[in-house]
Amino acid sequence: MNILDILFPKNCLECKRPGKYICGTCLGKVEHAKLVCPVCKKYSFIGATHSFCVNKFSLDGMHSFYKYDGVIRKAILALKYRFAHSIAEELVNCLDVKKLAFKEAILVPIPLHKHRENWRGFNQAAVLGKILAEKAGWRFNENLLLRLTDSTPQVKLGREERLRNIRGIFAAIKPRDEQERVLRGKLLDKTIIIFDDVWTTGATIAEACRVLKKAGAKEVWGMSVART
Ligand SMILES: [Zn+2]
Ligand SMILES: [Zn+2]
Repeated sequence: MNILDILFPKNCLECKRPGKYICGTCLGKVEHAKLVCPVCKKYSFIGATHSFCVNKFSLDGMHSFYKYDGVIRKAILALKYRFAHSIAEELVNCLDVKKLAFKEAILVPIPLHKHRENWRGFNQAAVLGKILAEKAGWRFNENLLLRLTDSTPQVKLGREERLRNIRGIFAAIKPRDEQERVLRGKLLDKTIIIFDDVWTTGATIAEACRVLKKAGAKEVWGMSVART
């Protein structure tokens, strides 16, 4: 037993049972997210974008593991302030990556605006994404996408405003020399997975995808732990 476990005993974030932050009983109560096309949000096999929904810069598919509910929701919220690393590890262990068929993929977390990253200490999409990439055998890259501005919190806006608000918040990081350009070209040839903790409207991941596809990415999927 780890000394931290003695000092700060773990209790399930939902039912308070001792042992883990996410107990098996509470996890079993959280439904899996439905697999939907990221463009029309209707059912799609494995979450791939329907052939009739595809456009030049659209996502090729989207995978969310759970509904944003119960102990999964509590764990995501708890990441913001307590024992983030152990909770993140437990959360990633709940994600069944074996069913996903990505082989040579690169996970790119949704970047956080620099000011916010400093204030809160870390970007939780990056913390979770790094552990997930390791578990799944994917590469992890934080140097493809840059966040330019901090937009008004999404929840306060209507759907139309939300889409408008998100335009231009990301940029593809430009290579500084020939060597970086070649390296980036190789990365953009692989399957890229844009990762966020929660998928709400899909606007953020879709915008990040648009930027990477404009920069030359061939295949881009979205992924989130949960979907609201
Ligand atoms: Zn529990
Ligand atoms: Zn569709």
